[in-house]
Amino acid sequence: MDNPIPQKLVILGSTGSVGSQTLDIVRAHPERLCVVGLGAGNNVKLLAEQISEFHPRFVYFQGDQTLAPPGDYKFTDMQEMATHSDVDIVVAASSGASGLPALLSAIKAGKIIALANKEALAMAGSIVMPLAKKHNAQIRPVDSEHCAIWQCLAGEKSIPSRIIITASGGPFRNYSQAELAEVSVEETLMHPSWKMGKKITVDCATLMNKGLEVIEAHWLFDMPFENIDVLVHTQSIIHSMVEFSDGAIKAQLGAPDMHLPIQYALSYPHRWDNHLTPPLDFSQISKLCFEQPDMTRFPCLKLAIEAGKEGGTCPAALCAADEVAVDMFLTERIKFGHIPLIVDAVLSRHCKIQNPSIDDILCTDAESRIIAKKIAQQEKLLCC
Ligand code: MG
Repeated sequence: MDNPIPQKLVILGSTGSVGSQTLDIVRAHPERLCVVGLGAGNNVKLLAEQISEFHPRFVYFQGDQTLAPPGDYKFTDMQEMATHSDVDIVVAASSGASGLPALLSAIKAGKIIALANKEALAMAGSIVMPLAKKHNAQIRPVDSEHCAIWQCLAGEKSIPSRIIITASGGPFRNYSQAELAEVSVEETLMHPSWKMGKKITVDCATLMNKGLEVIEAHWLFDMPFENIDVLVHTQSIIHSMVEFSDGAIKAQLGAPDMHLPIQYALSYPHRWDNHLTPPLDFSQISKLCFEQPDMTRFPCLKLAIEAGKEGGTCPAALCAADEVAVDMFLTERIKFGHIPLIVDAVLSRHCKIQNPSIDDILCTDAESRIIAKKIAQQEKLLCC
C-alpha cells in the first residue's frame, strides 16, 4: 500500500528540465506529493509561476534577491532547504558542480535523494557513496539509464556480472571527424530523441554524457569499470541492461521520456499511474538496433572512462573542463571539435590527488576551470 501522507519534496534546479518535469508529476499526484522548497538558477519568471502554483515554504534562486518573486515563503539557501526536518525527498536536479554542496548536506541529514545531477557523483563518488551509507541516506537514480539498471536489479540477490548502458549516439552519430569539427550550436541542440537542458544536450552530442554515466554507474552500483559496457541504441527504447552470471540479461524498455524515471525515484518501491509518458507501441517498432560507440570520432567518451578509471581528482578535472568547454561552445567562442581538445589538455596537465577530500575536489574544480580557459586562449581556439 502507498503511504497516504504526501511526501514532502524539495526540488533543487526546479526551473530546469528535470525540475519542471518533477513538478508535472507533483501536479499529477497531488495526494502523494507536496512541494516544500524550490531552488532555481536565474529563470525568475518560471520560478515565479512555480511559486504561485505550488506555494513552497522555502525558495532559493541564484539571482539578485531584490528580484525575488512575490509569495509567502522564506528565502533561504539550497543547503538549509535540503536539510530541513520537514523534507522527505530532495530532488537534486541542478546541473554541474554547483549542486555538490547541497547534495552533501542532504546526505548528512539522511534524506532520500532523487539524484539527477550526474556531475556531483562523477566528481565526488568516492565521498558521496560512503557518506550516504554512513548517514543512511538513500540515493535513487533519476538518470534514465541508471533508473533502468536499478529497476532491473529490483528483487535480485545476486550481483550482476555486467552492466550495459545504452546510448542514443547523439545527433552526429554518422558524421565524419571533419564534419563534426564544424557543427553549429543550433544543430547540436536538436537531440533526436530526448528533450533536455542545453549542457546535457551538448554532452550527449560529444558522448561525454555517456562517459559521465559510466562513472555514475560505477559508483551507484559498485561495478568495476571493466564490467560496464556502452552500446549505441539509436531508438532509445531500451534504457539499459543488466547481465547476470547465468547469462540472463534484463532490460527496461519505455518511450524516451524522463517522467517515468523521475516518478519511479519518487514512488519507489511502488509504481503509480503515469499518463505523462507515452506508451510503447510495439506495432510501430519493427526492430531494435545496436552498434558499438566510436571513441575515435567521439573522444570525450574515452576521456571520461579513462578519468573514471584513473580516479582521485581526475573526474573532477574532467567535469570542470567539460563545463567550461561546453559553455564556450554554447556562446560560440569555440568550435564543437575543440571540446575534447580542451578536456584532454586539462586532464594531461592535472596533478591527481588519489584520495581527495571534498576541498581537494572543489579546488580541482576551480583550478581546472581556470586552466581550461587558459588553454582555449593559448591554443588560439577562441573565435573572435
Ligand atoms: Mg542519461
